[in-house]
Amino acid sequence: MDVAAFAAWRVGVGLLDRTQRGLLLEDLALAEANHPIDCSTSELAESTARGGAEAASEVTERTADPVPGGGLLAQIGQARIASFGCPHCGGDAIHPWGKASGKPRYRCASCRRTFNAVTGTPLAGLRRMDRWNGQAEALISGETVAKAADRCNVAYTTAFRWRHRFLAALKADKPQHLSGIVEADETVILESFKGKRADLPRVARKRGGKAAKRGLSVEQIPIMVARDRSGATFDAVLPRLDAASITKALGGVISRPAELCCDGGAAITAFARRARLTFHVLPAPGIPRPEAPELHINNVNAYHGRFKEWMRRFHGVATKNLPNYLSWRRTLEALGAAPTPQAWIKGAVGLGPYQQSTL
Ligand SMILES: [Zn+2]
Repeated sequence: MDVAAFAAWRVGVGLLDRTQRGLLLEDLALAEANHPIDCSTSELAESTARGGAEAASEVTERTADPVPGGGLLAQIGQARIASFGCPHCGGDAIHPWGKASGKPRYRCASCRRTFNAVTGTPLAGLRRMDRWNGQAEALISGETVAKAADRCNVAYTTAFRWRHRFLAALKADKPQHLSGIVEADETVILESFKGKRADLPRVARKRGGKAAKRGLSVEQIPIMVARDRSGATFDAVLPRLDAASITKALGGVISRPAELCCDGGAAITAFARRARLTFHVLPAPGIPRPEAPELHINNVNAYHGRFKEWMRRFHGVATKNLPNYLSWRRTLEALGAAPTPQAWIKGAVGLGPYQQSTL
C-alpha cells in the first residue's frame, strides 16, 4: 500500500467501533503471524557491528535458558542445522557462538552471520520464551484463545497471534506419500464468516447452526482427508469438489502401487482413473465385504468425526484459518497419545512429526 493510501486508511481506524477494532486486531495479529518480523535482525546487526573477530567466549550469557526442560533450544538448534544448514545462506560450516537472550547462538563460517535455533522460523522474535511451554500445552489440550491467554498470562490478541505462529510451520508438515491401502474421502465444513462480520452476505447463522441448504452449497467448504494404514494422514482444503482440485491435492501423495479405497464419488473416481490407481469403491459408512475385510473407509471417516467433534469448541473458525486447524488436528494425531510441549515447540520451528517443512 502506498503512503497516501495508508494514511487515508489509518484515518478510518478512528471510526471503528469496539467490535470492529477487535476484528482488526485479530486480522493484524494473523497477518503478523503469517509473515513474522524476524527480531533477530537486531541481534544480527549487533553482531555484525562488533565484527566477526569477536571471540565467542566474550558473548555473555544474559539469562539462563528459561524454557523448562532446558536444552530444548540447543537440541532444536542442532536438528535445524543438520536439516537446513545456516538459515541465511544454507552453509553447513556452523560453529557454536555463545548465547544471546538465553538462546544458544551459532555462527556460519561462510556468510559469517550469527543465528539462533529459531532464526527464520515463525517463532523468531517471539518474546516471553518462558511461556512457550504454556502455549504448547494450550495446543495439546485444544484450548480456546481466551483460555490460552489466561494460561500464558498474555493479552487475547497475543494468544491469538501465538496460536497461529505455532501452527504456521505445521501447514507444510504433511506426509509426502501414503502407501499400501489408502483411504481417501471428502467431508464438508460449514463456511464461517467469523472475522468478516461487517460484510456478511446473508443473515448471521447462530453458532454451530446448520447450513440453510441441503447438499453442497457455497456455505460448505470441502475438505479432503487421506489416511494410510500406518496412520499417516494427509489433508487439504479443496477450492471445489471436483477432479481437478482433488488431483492437485492428492497427485503424488497417492500413487501406484498404493491402492485407494473411496466412496465412489465422481470427483475422486476421476482422480483415481487419471492417476491409474487400483481403487475400491465402498459405500460410506463402509461395511467391508466378507471376502475383502481390509477394504473400507472407516478410518478416514472416523478421522472426519474426530476432527468435527474437536472443532465444535471453536464455534466456527474463519475459512482462511481452516488449514491451520487441519494442521493442528493432524499434528495432535501424529504425535500420538502422549504429546509433549517440547514436540509442539519443535513442530513450530519446522521439525514436526512428518519432518516436512518449507522453512
Ligand atoms: Zn551462512
